[in-house]
Amino acid sequence: MTSEDELAFVLGHELEHIDHYHSVERVQIEAKLKSLDLEIVAAIAEIPMSLWQAGYSKDQEFEADREGLRIAAAAGYSPEGAVEMTERLAKLNREYVIMRRRRQAS
Ligand SMILES: [Zn+2]
Repeated sequence: MTSEDELAFVLGHELEHIDHYHSVERVQIEAKLKSLDLEIVAAIAEIPMSLWQAGYSKDQEFEADREGLRIAAAAGYSPEGAVEMTERLAKLNREYVIMRRRRQAS
């Protein structure tokens, strides 16, 4: 990150994942898919790393982006931070994909 505006957007994004219970939704969906006992799933959910590895859906990411941007702007940070951070992440993702393809080709 290169500015507080970018940091405010990222923190807002992560707060909105928590505020909207995205991790809980993810665990519930996985439990249904795997037909696991919900008590076992609740125990698994207490391990933060498992939630990180599970990831979020695209809809959850868009919701966290939208609401995270809203609270960062309401706190006085520039929405440009969200644009710059998103562009930088997209550029890094493109570079990662190109690098991975080169490794697979060789
Ligand atoms: Zn996210």
